[in-house]
Amino acid sequence: MAGYDAIVIGAGVIGAAVALGLARSGRRVISIDKLPAAGYGSTSGSCAIIRPFYSTVDGSALAYESHFYWRDWANFLGVEDERGLTRYVNCGSMVLKCRRNKYLEPVLRVMREIGCPFRELTPAEVRDRLPIAVTHSFDPPRRPDDPAFGEPNGEELPGAVLFTTSGYVADPQLAAHNLQVAAEASGATFRFNATVTEILRKDGRAAGVMLASGERIDAPVIVNVGGPHSYKLNALAGVVEGMSIKTRALRHEVAHVPSPPGFDYERDGIHFSDQDAAIYCRPEIGNHILVGSEDPECDERQWVDPDDFNREFSEQWRVQVMRLAQRFPDLPIPSRAKGIVELYDVSDDWIPIYDKSDLPGFYMAVGTSGNQFKNAPVVGEMMAELIEACENGRDHDADPVSFHLKHIDRTVSLGFYSRRRVPDARSSFSVLG
Ligand SMILES: Cc1cc2nc3c(=O)[nH]c(=O)nc-3n(C[C@H](O)[C@H](O)[C@H](O)COP(=O)(O)OP(=O)(O)OC[C@H]3O[C@@H](n4cnc5c(N)ncnc54)[C@H](O)[C@@H]3O)c2cc1C
Repeated sequence: MAGYDAIVIGAGVIGAAVALGLARSGRRVISIDKLPAAGYGSTSGSCAIIRPFYSTVDGSALAYESHFYWRDWANFLGVEDERGLTRYVNCGSMVLKCRRNKYLEPVLRVMREIGCPFRELTPAEVRDRLPIAVTHSFDPPRRPDDPAFGEPNGEELPGAVLFTTSGYVADPQLAAHNLQVAAEASGATFRFNATVTEILRKDGRAAGVMLASGERIDAPVIVNVGGPHSYKLNALAGVVEGMSIKTRALRHEVAHVPSPPGFDYERDGIHFSDQDAAIYCRPEIGNHILVGSEDPECDERQWVDPDDFNREFSEQWRVQVMRLAQRFPDLPIPSRAKGIVELYDVSDDWIPIYDKSDLPGFYMAVGTSGNQFKNAPVVGEMMAELIEACENGRDHDADPVSFHLKHIDRTVSLGFYSRRRVPDARSSFSVLG
């Protein structure tokens, strides 16, 4: 019988990175996913934007660090993948300054603290960099059936901030496959089309899993990386009560639209964050633009059962495209909706949980809240260190493990990601983290 030291449930981008981290730290790992391949869950619908700015110093430091992993992806993986390696398009980010983000003053304080480079742009420089954009304010964000929708409120936005350590990963599913191949090269096994239905316990700790097929797999360490299903796996393990932060699945739509005529957004575009109109976008192949929502209060949040939700586009698709058309007035609005409908695994404060649980041996990397794709390679290493420390007897709840971010030379306390934290009031409580 094959013996395993660790079972990773879920082979999305975070799960595959955790499998890699554990395999590299010398554990015999099996990664189990109910879908047919790595990254076929919510990872496949990710916009995969890499950006360093979050609401907190810890969140931003981790994200800034992640840029260096993607920039050096081939070296980080250290293996060839027969499907090729995903591309990191380091196109930069432009974030508009507006009332809703306090003209980015808090973010820039954080950027100065972590040493992340940025440049402030005047409205004229914004229009110069993105000639398709207008710089009027439309605040507050509205829905198109509001008579005031699309009407500038008379204010001019004071400019934007440009970040160079950012961009997007062209193929998020391939990124998960790359991580799988690297993990396999370090000895990990991947099992697909296999659903975990039970978490087994022995002598007061995690001992293995049962699969829907009736097969039992034993291991003393189990990691929940179930994405939008994370809360179901935590319930199976009986660890929900010990968490003050919970997770649940939120439905989201991403629109895929052509670039305005005369502008090649794929070549000359940028990741663009517009809290004034509550949308973000990034270049996409075929001279297209991906348009996501920044979760304004006027939009109803759709909490769903990840095993039973509507995968068809709704009115929300048009709402997001119309919002971007306020900012890019020549944006074509196609009559047929294209894009994706996917789920975020949202925590109560939109900050992930990277932690142990009250069941010894059962760990979780969950609550990624639509904003943790970028951090996957770092999280894999972080979880491996956390698990190593806890399995060696460290009481991580009382004495949190710290982790060194080697590229930006900064040490963070993993207590920041605790399942027992008080919801972090500094969070944006949105996909911005
Ligand atoms: C629309 C959208 C846009 C996003 N945009 C960005 C972005 O621009 N930048 C960014 O950083 N992040 C972004 N994110 C977030 C990012 O994509 C996620 O944080 C990340 O992909 C989560 O990876 P994961 O491995 O945790 O989860 P998933 O990819 O969902 O993987 C979980 C896996 O667990 C498996 N599983 C669940 N239950 C079981 C079970 N019982 N048995 C076996 N297998 C099971 C599932 O099949 C699935 O494959 C976005 C997410 C979405 C949905």
